[in-house]
Amino acid sequence: TAAAIEDPVAPPVQVNYTKLLINGKFVDSASGKTFQTLDPRTGEVIAHVAEGDAEDINCAVRAARKAFDEGPWPKMTAYERSRILLRFADLIDKHNDELAALETWDNGKPYEQAAKIEVPMLSRLMRYYAGWADKIHGLIVPADGPHHVQVLHEPIGVVGQIIPWNFPLLMFAWKVGPALACGNTIVLKSAEQTPLTALYAAKLLHEAGLPEGVLNVVSGFGPTAGAALASHMDVDKIAFTGSTETGKIIQELAARSNLKPVTLELGGKSPFIIMDDANIDHAVELAHFALFFNQGQCCCAGSRTFVHENVYDEFVEKSKARALKRVVGDPFKNGIEQGPQIDGEQFSKVLRYIRAGVDSGATLVTGGERAGSKGFYIQPTVFSDVKDNMVIAQEEIFGPVQSILKFKDLNEVIQRANASKYGLAAGVFTNNLNTANTLMRALRVGTVWINCFDVFDAAIPFGGYKMSGVGREKGIDSLKNYLQVKAVVTPLRNS
Ligand code: ADP
Repeated sequence: TAAAIEDPVAPPVQVNYTKLLINGKFVDSASGKTFQTLDPRTGEVIAHVAEGDAEDINCAVRAARKAFDEGPWPKMTAYERSRILLRFADLIDKHNDELAALETWDNGKPYEQAAKIEVPMLSRLMRYYAGWADKIHGLIVPADGPHHVQVLHEPIGVVGQIIPWNFPLLMFAWKVGPALACGNTIVLKSAEQTPLTALYAAKLLHEAGLPEGVLNVVSGFGPTAGAALASHMDVDKIAFTGSTETGKIIQELAARSNLKPVTLELGGKSPFIIMDDANIDHAVELAHFALFFNQGQCCCAGSRTFVHENVYDEFVEKSKARALKRVVGDPFKNGIEQGPQIDGEQFSKVLRYIRAGVDSGATLVTGGERAGSKGFYIQPTVFSDVKDNMVIAQEEIFGPVQSILKFKDLNEVIQRANASKYGLAAGVFTNNLNTANTLMRALRVGTVWINCFDVFDAAIPFGGYKMSGVGREKGIDSLKNYLQVKAVVTPLRNS
């Protein structure tokens, strides 16, 4: 492991786009300020990126407004919009390796995963939404009186979108795809940790024929650029993915300004429930994947591994062995399963949670320290004997730290799994159909994965119950976020 970390490989890509993309052009920020984006493998600077602030958000919103009200966008047919998204998907495929390398460099995720999973999903999502663009239509509804009643589904207008750093390109796709398919214009603020791929993708979208002003990308920080977008009086809707804490701020800013509707995809503390009838080796592997995928930086990570007492000891031993086998190293190297955490802040936060786990009396089964001597790598860490009231069982760690809890029976585990402020996802592992169905109905979460985990498909809706969010992304439900409903009533005869 150490050797795989100490000697970083040169990234096979160049950084070409670092300015703000406003009204179809790359421009410096109004203040002229820039910020550094860092390589999580070393902490070194990758590039200096234009730092957008309230003034740049104003320019971007003006451009989006003009493109929505006057520009070619609202006059184009749905089929023309669909074809732009299809051409964009082709360009993503063509530039798959550059996008993936840029994503790995900025984020630290294994290149093989970025190139084979994340970027292909980006083009798949674009084709999915291209398919919707010309199939969005209203209704004619029966009324009691002598009236002809039509219900139109119109784009909302200028939408603000704020995305996080853990899946920069996928979050771009989940936001931009449905908004464009429905005919809106966009101001998107990328995460300050990972500004590079949104600029590259947006450039490709313009190459695919997107008119100027339809998608504007402003890099910058949350409390400045992000807050200016959420509280802008001329933004008609805001969509956000990130922490629950920031989600509350976004909703408050939206309410205090112009009451723009808000969709939120927030944190989680997802249970992964393993029954005693399950194949243990398979369960160990799946629970490991559910937690450790993407360096543990998934809002839906299976971060509470509930194991039936009959198989608990064996499960803990095998989970330890699996974590020890996990290949940590430079994400550009082949065969690497885990790269560094995103930055120094997250790195320290995860290590603090590990200390809190030890202090609260959980058993540290393996890991617990940084890996290597530079960058933000952390050893795959497993805790057993975790109790519900411990901080590591309640708060989102967002790192490679698995918490294993023991349970006796189904009713008990349902109650404990649901005793969380979050409700994003859950995993269920059993061969018993009745058990699976009972759990599936009882769990108060937006996604239940039965004998699988992290299956993401363009058509599957994703989102949270409780404090994990408001609204759904992907699938048919995501379109509702970006459409206004207008009722039109006309008499059928003169009375
Ligand atoms: P994390 O803690 O994982 O960085 P955040 O929820 O803080 O998650 O960040 C997700 C996104 O929200 C980022 O693009 C970030 O810049 C933005 N953000 C953070 N704080 C605010 C804020 N006060 N207003 C608007 N956006 C914000």
